[in-house]
Amino acid sequence: MGNSINDRTFDAIVIGSGISGSWAAKEFCERGLKTLLLERGKDVKHIKDYPTANKLPYEFEYRGNIPLQVRKENPVVTKCYAYSEATDHFFVKDNEHPYVQEKPFDWIRGYQVGGKSLLWARQTQRWSQFDFEGPARDGFAVDWPIRYKDIKPWYTKVEKFSGIAGDKDGIDVLPDGDFLPAFPLNAVEKYFKESIAKSYKDRYVISGRCAHITDPQPTHTEQGRAKCQHRTLCERGCPLGSYFSSNASTIPWAVKTGNLTLRPESVVHSVMYDENKGKATGVRVIDAATKDSIEFYAPVIFVNAAAFNTNLILLNSTSNRFPNGLGNDNGLLGKYVAFHIYRGSISGEFEGLKDLTVEGRRPTSGYIPRFRNVRKQETDFLRGYAAGFGAARHNEHNTEGFGLTLKQNMLNPKLGPWKVHSHMMGETIPKESNYVALDTKKDEWGIPLIKISVDYDYNDEKMIQDYFEQMGEMFNKAGFINVKTRDSQQAPGLDIHEMGGVRMGRDPKTSLLNKWNQLHSCKNVFVTDGACMTSTSTQNPSLTYMAFAARAANFAVNELKKGNL
Ligand SMILES: Cc1cc2nc3c(=O)[nH]c(=O)nc-3n(C[C@H](O)[C@H](O)[C@H](O)COP(=O)(O)OP(=O)(O)OC[C@H]3O[C@@H](n4cnc5c(N)ncnc54)[C@H](O)[C@@H]3O)c2cc1C
Ligand code: SF4
Repeated sequence: MGNSINDRTFDAIVIGSGISGSWAAKEFCERGLKTLLLERGKDVKHIKDYPTANKLPYEFEYRGNIPLQVRKENPVVTKCYAYSEATDHFFVKDNEHPYVQEKPFDWIRGYQVGGKSLLWARQTQRWSQFDFEGPARDGFAVDWPIRYKDIKPWYTKVEKFSGIAGDKDGIDVLPDGDFLPAFPLNAVEKYFKESIAKSYKDRYVISGRCAHITDPQPTHTEQGRAKCQHRTLCERGCPLGSYFSSNASTIPWAVKTGNLTLRPESVVHSVMYDENKGKATGVRVIDAATKDSIEFYAPVIFVNAAAFNTNLILLNSTSNRFPNGLGNDNGLLGKYVAFHIYRGSISGEFEGLKDLTVEGRRPTSGYIPRFRNVRKQETDFLRGYAAGFGAARHNEHNTEGFGLTLKQNMLNPKLGPWKVHSHMMGETIPKESNYVALDTKKDEWGIPLIKISVDYDYNDEKMIQDYFEQMGEMFNKAGFINVKTRDSQQAPGLDIHEMGGVRMGRDPKTSLLNKWNQLHSCKNVFVTDGACMTSTSTQNPSLTYMAFAARAANFAVNELKKGNL
């Protein structure tokens, strides 16, 4: 890349190469825009940069475990279930990128080309009309400026390209998508599904919809992606490209158009605003290695640095016109942050179907769509929760004895009982008191640290209790025994679904973005990652970010062509 202003001028700039940013970049490149994709982390090339993908357990120094010293130095990231010796290189270490916890918040990050798309659990569900209507119905947070019908065609577009496995379940609270064949439920999961169907009119157990290719279509083959082999080593990077990641799918696709310039190790400092033009002109970047400051220019800028970092970049983008951050006329930038509650889980055992077991692996499990307060307020807490559900049967090894006896015992394991498990995925209410802001301390690139002040409230505690009661009842009705509930008491954040701070809305007085994800007061800057979310509902959010990114990018291209940006 040269040094003249021409070399640093593009048709569009996208900040962040993760799930949402790579979708925006792909759409721009396909529509003919010369696009700069800025990424603060190192490059990760599909297949070549998956160093642990094919390693066997004994090839890891610690057999995949995390040494005590690493845990001590990184108390937050080492809590993440997907963090291990095999995935360490894709996670941000606490001690390398500090942040300020005004209240405890476990912030899980992936700074590299592809962002967290390499690490995610790939669960993908559409929102329904009830989810978009939620805030208007109960009056908490502001009304969404769109409804399901506005986003529906974009869900279809991203599902077809990404490859989503799922059944057409015909449930109005969780609309069907354009699916590849689902991963089947096992015998006890099917039994639970039938038991729930007998006992409840509005509760369902379905196969967890997930971004895995189970029957490659021509569009997937063209991307160089193949059928999932059920290895379930996904978080190491999948050499087959069978699950959706930016690295396997959207980025190489954008590269093929000849319109993409990908610039890793480029830490975005701020978005630049020109008062005379009344719009943003470009982006200021600090080179991660040299610490040089460089400016890039474009008429359209998408901020997709993942929810909190997007807030950080906008808060740090100050000018005479916007002294408190870009687009922040109402002082609400950084506020009304929300997340998902993953604290509650429940387990049990099943004594039936003893002649059956499970074989092989499956990169998803069962899913129970939300059933509380969906159509109307019916409990003494607001909103609701979805739940994961899984059943499994494992070999139990007898470790008694010594020498030959121990060997014989170990070589002849007995099949244990069926174990069943569920975890909640609850919606929290966005509140002004849950916020992120700039701290006075700066990082090594001269950018203020982010300060996070987010907590649970009374509504959340009631919801957790309701999950225990309802799921406990459902387990009891199915005849599960030894049922135990567990509140992990974990701090917010480990759900890795933080959202809000730059929310969409109808009114510029109470929101930052309009229905096209444009800043109300700076129309050529768009936000389509989790920061844009007005409310969280209970679905895993990334599919919705992808759909927003594709929709807004195509709108931006049309507006650009009309001369409106
Ligand atoms: C273990 C795990 C499991 C998950 N499971 C699921 C799941 O099942 N379903 C689901 O929907 N979601 C899941 N998620 C969440 C999902 O990964 C995120 O919702 C998704 O990646 C968000 O996309 P994004 O584009 O906003 O951010 P990311 O994918 O994180 O990408 C943001 C990118 O921006 C870059 N960046 C940040 N700051 C700057 C800057 N200043 N300058 C330049 N670049 C910058 C980052 O380095 C990163 O590459 C999971 C996440 C993890 C870690
Ligand atoms: S389970 Fe599928 S997507 Fe995951 S690593 Fe294996 S082949 Fe790849």
